Amino acid sequence: MYTFKGGTHVREYKNTDSAPIERMPAPPTVAIPMSQHIGAPCRPVVKPWDHVDYGQLIGEVEQGLGCPVHASVSGTVKKIETRLSAQGNPVEVVILENDGLYTKSDRIKPFPKPLEEATPDEIVEVIRSAGISGMGGATFPTYAKLKGAIGKADTLIINCAECEPFITANHRMMLEHPERIIDGTRVLMQALGLKRALIGVEDNKPDAIALLREKAPTYIKICTLKTKYPQGDERQLMYALLGKELPTGKLPADIGCVIFNAETVAAIWHAFFNGTPLCKRVVTVDGDCVGRPANVKVPLGTSYRDLIEYCGGLIKQPERIINGGPMMGNAQWDFNASITKGSSSILALSHEFCQKGHSSLPSACIRCGRCVKNCPMHLMPNMLVNFAMRRRWDDAAAYHVMSCVECGTCSYNCPGGMQIVQHIRVAKATIRAAQTAARMREAALEKEKKGEVASSERK
Ligand code: SF4
Ligand code: SF4
Repeated sequence: MYTFKGGTHVREYKNTDSAPIERMPAPPTVAIPMSQHIGAPCRPVVKPWDHVDYGQLIGEVEQGLGCPVHASVSGTVKKIETRLSAQGNPVEVVILENDGLYTKSDRIKPFPKPLEEATPDEIVEVIRSAGISGMGGATFPTYAKLKGAIGKADTLIINCAECEPFITANHRMMLEHPERIIDGTRVLMQALGLKRALIGVEDNKPDAIALLREKAPTYIKICTLKTKYPQGDERQLMYALLGKELPTGKLPADIGCVIFNAETVAAIWHAFFNGTPLCKRVVTVDGDCVGRPANVKVPLGTSYRDLIEYCGGLIKQPERIINGGPMMGNAQWDFNASITKGSSSILALSHEFCQKGHSSLPSACIRCGRCVKNCPMHLMPNMLVNFAMRRRWDDAAAYHVMSCVECGTCSYNCPGGMQIVQHIRVAKATIRAAQTAARMREAALEKEKKGEVASSERK
């Protein structure tokens, strides 16, 4: 059994692990954000009153890192407006009126050659043009990750750990469509020129492990991971499977490894073998306020409101609506916000649920050391929260606050109810802003110097 140092066993609440994936009928309107990935936002390439087909390109990245965006329904562009994203940033949104006809774009075609004849560049381009970004929540453009790993990575890992409580979307994908994960892995192996790959699954999914072992060829090894949070974090997964530690500031490819999430691999399978861009994803809808918790395949751009209505509506007043898991997800304030490429789950949790096991008011640190013992990054969260509360940013940086992966293990275990991660996030954002300002100052000075040199040379 593979595992890592630190971490904690969280209550699992995998209430939907036996709920088969349902296909939600597309709602009358969808609102598709132009930024659903890390990198530059897309520019809409459609305008109001244009007709669009399912899978048609509606947003393209002009320059830099990014993923194109496609229509998840056929119909008419109603309007383009600015809304707030799940992370609270303003983003352009294309609102489509669904005509219910599901007319497919004529650009949806499988890759024209057998997989064995596809070149790495061709596979990278298939993934780029399908608009695939990391679907485990990280949303890093997949084509860029793959391109950066070609010729560098000698180990491919497929992350099927799904360690966050509640979420079972990957588990259901493994049970219902194991071939998509296996053949998607083969596509990645062809691009990377590798002869073997590892698929890591936590031992709380024995049925998925057994099925994948039955279906997978011998060159794809199914590895059983000990169920422990945050096993799905790339660094912990690499340590568990390979015994390798990733130095701060480095990418997995720098130490010969590349990792893709299970649903991302299934999207790659769709893109390569069917030519379908990323327009839908599986979302776990759960929480004690949801009428009928379920796993649902949802057109991107569907509102939380429509999705929760489909799942039996709200049966109690929720205190929190969370996009993502309860440990690392973002609390939401707008019920009309959209499901995007990174939305693995929507949770609606009541006040009683949110207060379970917590003191009603945060208290002072009692120096129990539990956060230090459980931190998978081997940090001292008690010190970090202390520095952040006192605005001692330099000390926080010296104690490696930037290495924190914001997994929430420290807050989960803190008997004092300290809001450790929130304070760490503030510290990281402040330090990042100061670093950006310093870089901009340096660049301006550099420019000024060059200007002076040029003008003195002219003289
Ligand atoms: S300090 Fe960061 S990495 Fe360590 S447990 Fe807390 S959130 Fe996780
Ligand atoms: S777990 Fe909480 S109370 Fe214990 S040392 Fe860490 S911050 Fe302090």
